[in-house]
Amino acid sequence: MKMKRVIYLFAVLIAVSAFSLFTSAAGDGQITYLSEDVSVNVGENVTLSCEALETEDGNMLYVWYSSDANGEDASPLTSPSPSGDYVPDTLSPGEYYYYCMVYYMYEDSSNIVKSDVVTLTVNGVVDVARPEVEIDIEKRYQVAKGGVLTITYKCVLPDAPYSLVYQWYVENPETGVFDKLYGANTDTLTVPTDRVGSSKYFCIANTVYGDSYSPNRQSDITTVTVTGHDHSYGEYTTVIAPTCTEDGKDIRYCPSCGASEERAISATGHSFGRWSTVTEATEHSEGSESRSCSVCGETETRTVPQLDDTGSTTEADDTTSQSETTDAVTTAVTTAVITTASGTTGTSDNITETESGFPWWVAIMLFGMFAAIAFAALAGFNFGKSKTISGIASKYMSLKNNDKQ
Ligand SMILES: [Zn+2]
Ligand SMILES: [Zn+2]
Repeated sequence: MKMKRVIYLFAVLIAVSAFSLFTSAAGDGQITYLSEDVSVNVGENVTLSCEALETEDGNMLYVWYSSDANGEDASPLTSPSPSGDYVPDTLSPGEYYYYCMVYYMYEDSSNIVKSDVVTLTVNGVVDVARPEVEIDIEKRYQVAKGGVLTITYKCVLPDAPYSLVYQWYVENPETGVFDKLYGANTDTLTVPTDRVGSSKYFCIANTVYGDSYSPNRQSDITTVTVTGHDHSYGEYTTVIAPTCTEDGKDIRYCPSCGASEERAISATGHSFGRWSTVTEATEHSEGSESRSCSVCGETETRTVPQLDDTGSTTEADDTTSQSETTDAVTTAVTTAVITTASGTTGTSDNITETESGFPWWVAIMLFGMFAAIAFAALAGFNFGKSKTISGIASKYMSLKNNDKQ
């Protein structure tokens, strides 16, 4: 873009210069106003102006150039413009030289007039007012190791367009010299708290304008003490004993600083004994039983299902197993149920078979008798009508009686 502009300007200049060779000069002295040499501070605005006597048709163009002190080695700074004003940069201190070329038409002829050189002096160091303290830091701060401490030193600016800069310093404990804390350039400082001990800090603020700094406005020097150590705790002591249902608490102390550390002791849970019968279950009503905690006396009660027709409570076993969780409880329940049910030992299944089944020796005897009769029939015996099983039996009984006599 810049290159393009330069080429464009050269083209305009060559064209105008060439044209001017063939036209009659309008003469010197057409420039009616030119800015005087001027001195400004860095960053301050300044406008250089050039005015020439206006022609009747008003076709007048201005171009500003930078040059050396003699108006040589020039290069254009602006595009040809109907305005003769130019606002130079004042960002860097130094001396700068400018002049203006005026291209104008006069009675069907054109001419060029070059202005004198204008010297612009940009002062690097200016008198910038010190900032005023708004919030100063405390003389002392204390923070526990690993804690967070932010200290603030806040100043206010005298006037725009100045800016304010901060720099924090920390004392080197070996040399006693305050070194810059790099990166600590705002009104707050987050103090490092990873090491136990004391450190000194301060902050300075400056008003800045371009390259100019105001004198320092320094904060108080503060001493920051980071307290703490690696605690050496003693033994835990129980301060709250746990109960069956409530947690307890242990505590231990660091003898050097008194710091304490706590830990919870879980509730112990109840220590129940065995279930004991309160009301016997019958075939018509439920029974109940209870057990107590030997520590706190808490009592639990539960129902025992009523007995079924066989005097058994086998259903109760299933129900109980599902609702209870510990083996001990299940065992206790099994024992209790069996004792309550029949007063016999052995499992519920055995009890049922023994009491309701047909005796096995009767079955074998009957089977033996029928087998013997069948065998006799097959072998050709003729028992006769009177010789029935009952007849044989009565004969046998009478023989036995005769023996006794
Ligand atoms: Zn401690
Ligand atoms: Zn208890």
